[in-house]
Amino acid sequence: MSITDPRSIRISSNLLPADGRFGCGPSKVRPEQMEALAAAGPALMGTSHRQAPVKNLVGSVRSGLTDLFGLPDDWEIVLGNGGSTVFWDVATFGLVESHSQHLVFGEFSSKFAEAVAAAPHLGDPTVIKTDPGTHPTATAQAGVDTYAFTHNETSTGVMMPLIRPVGSDDALVVVDATSAAGGLLWNPAEVDVYYFAPQKSFASDGGLWFAACSPRALERIEKISASKRWIPASLDLKIALDNSKANQTYNTPALATLVMLDAQVKWMNEIGGLSACNARSAQSSSILYSWAESRDWATPFVSNPAQRSQVVGTIDIAAVADGGVDANDVCAALRANGVVDTDSYRKLGRNQIRVGMFPAIDPEDVQALTACIDVAVEALRG
Ligand SMILES: *Cc1c(COP(=O)(O)O)cnc(C)c1O
Repeated sequence: MSITDPRSIRISSNLLPADGRFGCGPSKVRPEQMEALAAAGPALMGTSHRQAPVKNLVGSVRSGLTDLFGLPDDWEIVLGNGGSTVFWDVATFGLVESHSQHLVFGEFSSKFAEAVAAAPHLGDPTVIKTDPGTHPTATAQAGVDTYAFTHNETSTGVMMPLIRPVGSDDALVVVDATSAAGGLLWNPAEVDVYYFAPQKSFASDGGLWFAACSPRALERIEKISASKRWIPASLDLKIALDNSKANQTYNTPALATLVMLDAQVKWMNEIGGLSACNARSAQSSSILYSWAESRDWATPFVSNPAQRSQVVGTIDIAAVADGGVDANDVCAALRANGVVDTDSYRKLGRNQIRVGMFPAIDPEDVQALTACIDVAVEALRG
């Protein structure tokens, strides 16, 4: 219990960031995306997803993502309803043939492994696990047809390089890029499926999943589809693929999400593509981590600097007994001043703040956030 009510702490307005949203998903939506939504107006909102205006929008998102990721012509952007969580089930039905290997290093990376483990039509997955704050490394394994990686573990703020395991032959490399996609760099030659949802680095809303699929992945989709496996239609990747090629979805998508996503992808390509987006996140993260290292009551949670995420920063705060403060009080003080969603991932259970540093977030705002945290901590220490 701190003596000061954190909500009574006032941070002077000249220190506040221009935009106070630092959540890791949903994340800051740029005002220009909201304007795009208003501009889309009656020409698009409330109209059929089977007609040209919405199909053109889906087509624009698909080609914009292809440009952003620099994908070869024989890749496909596939989309469907349900977000990344649903994509784990989609992959369990439509990508894994019999045996998968999963790198597990936090809450999100554990979920796909759990979905595979529960599937009666698949063998027990191999799980390679390390402690939160680090990441494991994959090794080629006989009989494994799918390697499951997580580009950025959003619950811990660890990023991992995407490298196809040597000797993995025809196996697929399937990457959960939910928070990474659009903010971190990757090489399509090392990956077969790069899937994500639009509410993190793409600054849009949740509810859809997207998967960039290599020719090898497309072959796998066709092969499993031709087999006798029972697949619910709403989770059928082949049905999603066929609809996506026609710039459609199997069932009705959220149009506003697509409009805001399209506006963001256009902006990302305009400012210089993925490398420019990554540069913004890299700048934000170097501001955050060097600030934390310069404070005796703050430490980057991820000890290996190479594994510290450029898009999701996790900073441990010293315990009250060690001259620190309760991170929940810091978050409450920030929230009372309009700076929101800096809370750590609840199940991680650390005295920590977590900061979204997606491309939409201005590095100067991350700088301002550090000044605001300094004020809050000083006030709380009394
Ligand atoms: C947020 C997140 C998910 C879940 O995404 P939903 O769209 O909410 O299902 C999965 N994986 C990672 C790495 C995430 O950050």
